[in-house]
Amino acid sequence: MDLLTLQIGLVQSRAGLGPMSLYLDTSLQYLKGVGPKLGQTLRRRGIATVQDLLEFYPRAYEDRRAVRSISSLEADQVVSMTAQILSVRSMPLGRTRRKIYEVVLGDNTGRIACKYFRVPYKGYFERFQPQQRVRVTGKVTEYRGRIEFHHPDIVEQSEEDTDLADQLLPIYVEVEGLSVKKLRHMVDQSIAGIIDEKRYEDPLPEWLRKKYDLLAWGKAIQQVHQPTIEQAEDVLSMNSPAHRRLIFDEFFKLELVLAARKNHTKEETAYQMQDKLTLVKQAIATLPFQLTEAQKRCLWEVIKDLQRSFPMHRLVQGDVGSGKTMVALLSAVFAMENGFQAAIMVPTEILAEQHARNASGLLAALGLKVGLLTGSMKAKERSELVEQIRRGEIHLVVGTHALIQDDVDFDRLGLVIIDEQHRFGVHQRAKLKQKGISPHFLVMTATPIPRTLAMTVYGDLDVSLINEMPKGRTPIVTRVIFDNKRPQLLGFVKEQLSKGRQAYFVYPLVEESEKIELKDAISEYERLKSELPQYRIGLLHGRMKSVEKEAVMREFRSGQFDVLVSTTVIEVGVDVSNANLMVIEHAERFGLSQLHQLRGRVGRGEHKSYCVLVLGYAVSEESKQRAKVMERTSDGFEIAEADLEIRGPGEFLGTRQSGLPGFKLANLVRDLPILKQARDAAFELMEKDPGLKRPEHQCLADVLKQEQEQWTG
Ligand code: ADP
Ligand code: MG
Repeated sequence: MDLLTLQIGLVQSRAGLGPMSLYLDTSLQYLKGVGPKLGQTLRRRGIATVQDLLEFYPRAYEDRRAVRSISSLEADQVVSMTAQILSVRSMPLGRTRRKIYEVVLGDNTGRIACKYFRVPYKGYFERFQPQQRVRVTGKVTEYRGRIEFHHPDIVEQSEEDTDLADQLLPIYVEVEGLSVKKLRHMVDQSIAGIIDEKRYEDPLPEWLRKKYDLLAWGKAIQQVHQPTIEQAEDVLSMNSPAHRRLIFDEFFKLELVLAARKNHTKEETAYQMQDKLTLVKQAIATLPFQLTEAQKRCLWEVIKDLQRSFPMHRLVQGDVGSGKTMVALLSAVFAMENGFQAAIMVPTEILAEQHARNASGLLAALGLKVGLLTGSMKAKERSELVEQIRRGEIHLVVGTHALIQDDVDFDRLGLVIIDEQHRFGVHQRAKLKQKGISPHFLVMTATPIPRTLAMTVYGDLDVSLINEMPKGRTPIVTRVIFDNKRPQLLGFVKEQLSKGRQAYFVYPLVEESEKIELKDAISEYERLKSELPQYRIGLLHGRMKSVEKEAVMREFRSGQFDVLVSTTVIEVGVDVSNANLMVIEHAERFGLSQLHQLRGRVGRGEHKSYCVLVLGYAVSEESKQRAKVMERTSDGFEIAEADLEIRGPGEFLGTRQSGLPGFKLANLVRDLPILKQARDAAFELMEKDPGLKRPEHQCLADVLKQEQEQWTG
């Protein structure tokens, strides 16, 4: 029976029952007032069932008790008030093609602008006419000494308005073609049908709810949608017991998957390694420097893991330049000495090439062979290399994603090292795991991950910290300037170049259009050539072939170029010790962690190093303050926390790549304490009942299965 007949069958059988009984998985189309068209709009928003609707949580609340006037508004307040529309217009944003929309509101005490940097949905602004009375709800923001609203909710004032005075009303993300009134009515129907009728099961067992002092699910759902005025204070700050329970649930689902995965890892078998250390010691002795204490500790933790019978899943976190790659290489030497192959996977070809070169230098003396496997190899070369890997003649394979292509089989792959992990998601990790028999995993991340995120994304990994820099590094001097200081900047650049140093000029990657990116980098390159005629300038961008990029990089490294103009392809790991100046154009378009990464490209040699962040004109005060964080600190963890707070986790990791599910209500920054509890609870549960076999955990077993499918599906 296909889905359609199944649905029709359901309609018929339910139609016979008189007033329909609702279940959590009932399609919304069965609610009163929901026709096919609205049903489709809602489905497109991911709201298909009654459960989806109940989990379509209010994004804020409106406190109708307070009567406000514009002159009484203060920055940072979340307010709701009535006013009249004075004007609606759009204007270009700076020099870009993007537009900013502005709705100016007024009352008899003053006026305030509502600014939108994107259109909520098509036709949003067409609804508004001058003179119209509206209700606006949002956070008051201060910008250049004036107050305004950014992306507030504006709705036409209706009859209902006066009826609902003195109430606390939920505000939902707007859905095109669905009035607030109708939405509330649908939610009320669903709550009556499900919660009042007790047609649901609380997914959390009672012992867990008691232990963490959590409201029952039904109660929480009801209170979140229909809060009473007595709860106003907690509800307005999204901090009511109902919110806490539902936020807990979101985190708990995620942590449950991680806890299950960690349990699962322990049941797998891995290649158990011996403890031969001769080559490792020999390699360490040939290094021109002493390992830091942190490096030694970390290497030792890895070596111990490799001698266990289940696979290592270890994350090495450390700032740029803290010597992670060296730890990775030495770990690989250990694996090879004990009879296994190792693989290092990196995000870019340049980086793969650099790693392979460095590794060859170290390993050749030990009689170990390194192979470089990239996506741009010629077919014949590649098949030869793949054959050698299969026969075990290559001991260490360095490569990009090409490594995980299906025709690469190893003879005895014992250790997989993933460098610069934040570019790799959960999925790739799972994929690599199918190669060989459960190899050990060592994950290196140069972008320090805020604690909160580490707990969510890497919750199933053990963590080693390299919290110490090699001795003798001088800190990098960082300055934020505006575009109009370019003449002074060029003067400084010339001064450094005349001393024989080299400089990077980095341009942002414009993701929407590689063409624009190319144009920007090329025109910048031409401009610099005319501004610095006496110097040799190279160009590197993402559209170039790998061999071309490699050639340019090699020339820059060998000093044939004084300046390298580049898009962000140089971002991770590339190492040129004579380069001591990093200029980042349009720094406002980068995340702080990315800026930190880029800055880490300099400061690797003995020369004093500089990083100049150039802001385009017309950037906001906020962007400037944000960039100033870079002047204040060089601590990657601190920067990462600031970045998370400013941009949120999706931006930070690239949600799609990270495989991290989106949260509906939870906020990783605000709700950290709840995350910790949810994590404890999930790991405790998995300890108590690893297979979730007990009857009171049946519901959670289903939840887990669903979540796991979402993650890997
Ligand atoms: P990361 O991968 O953490 O960014 P790398 O391993 O690439 O750092 O090391 C950065 C640079 O520092 C490399 O040139 C490396 O050879 C050097 N290096 C690594 N460990 C030490 C150490 N203990 N003392 C001095 N220099 C080191
Ligand atoms: Mg590195």
